[in-house]
Amino acid sequence: MTEQTLSAGPGASAEAVDRSPALDWLDDAAADRRARHMRRVLTPRAPRDGVIDLASNDYLGLGLHPEMVDAAVAATRRWGAGATGSRLVTGTTDEHLALEAELAEFCRQPAALVFSSGYTANLGAVVALSGKGSLIVSDGGSHASLVDACRLSRARVVVVERGDVAAVARALAGRSEERALVVTDSVYSADGDLAPLLALHGACRAHRAVLLADEAHGLGVRGDGGRGLVEELRLAGREDVVVTATLSKALGSQGGVVLGSQRVREHLVNSARTFIFDTGLAPAAVGAARAALGVLRREPDLASRVVEVAEHLAAVTGADHPQSAVVSVVLGDAERAVSAAGRCAELGLRVGCFRPPSVPEGTARLRLTARADISEADLARASEVLAQVLAEHGHVVDPAPSATT
Ligand code: PMP
Repeated sequence: MTEQTLSAGPGASAEAVDRSPALDWLDDAAADRRARHMRRVLTPRAPRDGVIDLASNDYLGLGLHPEMVDAAVAATRRWGAGATGSRLVTGTTDEHLALEAELAEFCRQPAALVFSSGYTANLGAVVALSGKGSLIVSDGGSHASLVDACRLSRARVVVVERGDVAAVARALAGRSEERALVVTDSVYSADGDLAPLLALHGACRAHRAVLLADEAHGLGVRGDGGRGLVEELRLAGREDVVVTATLSKALGSQGGVVLGSQRVREHLVNSARTFIFDTGLAPAAVGAARAALGVLRREPDLASRVVEVAEHLAAVTGADHPQSAVVSVVLGDAERAVSAAGRCAELGLRVGCFRPPSVPEGTARLRLTARADISEADLARASEVLAQVLAEHGHVVDPAPSATT
């Protein structure tokens, strides 16, 4: 497939478009992207294509689990392909309410509210819990959806260095606003390490603020049987810790959730704009997420298996000791990372390639995501490919990886 057809996408061919000079600036933007090796293209994958997948977020390998697929089909047959309306109108089925009860119970939280994605869950929760006249302190490692949520909130926003609890405490202590919210990923999405949630919660407690922790990469991986880092740290059920998560990673479905007290849920139902004005989560995704929770309850070891696989991948690549499914192999410039990811693909291994703006300038990387369902043979082959490709790209792997850092 040529670049032309890829960028034209489905539908009209590039030549058929009546180009407008009002959009000529897009050519400059495209040229700039190319020059910086930042151009992204859509690469479709084939189902069960035989490629070893260390790029997807389906950490537990549940996406194609027969119980998930059956539950998605059954929910679709019963309720239809779409939710038919927003949650407050016709988009709530008894499956949505059952999923919320089950998510709350699983995460040991009083209540849950399901959104159409993790992105909209973050936008909805952060905006509804802050607003004009309040302060948000945002951890510098926060996911783009939290960053956008801060921008939408009309609150005063202070961004601190990633993991800098003292800076958070200073911002909270020095504020003039009555209300304050601290937002962070629990497991940082690009690097896979852990935010200092206990210390952040301590700072919030001391300064009468609320902590919002995004467990997108914690749910299904950290905590008792995958109940998340907040549960692991015994912060679940504290009203000043609000949790958001996605159903699209370890749970292998789609959708997002906010977990917290009943009064937080009630507030979001009535004021979170991405809840009120968005179509409810599709029944198939609801059914599949419920099935995923069933599998997780039955197979609590899936969560620890993911981290074991991640540890193996880190040893092979010289990456820092992983604390989640994410293993980040920093290669520096974007061109090198793109080339290494392309070479892995040629050798039958799909890996993620993160470049700025997803990660800081000069830290482009291969991002590997461990999976609980990888076979020993595939893990051995993936290790071989990674060792070969990293050697080809002059990436020296420390023979004694930093297993204790
Ligand atoms: N938060 C984090 C930390 C994420 O990594 C993601 C997914 N990339 C999201 C939120 C958004 O979740 P979703 O894909 O369900 O919109």
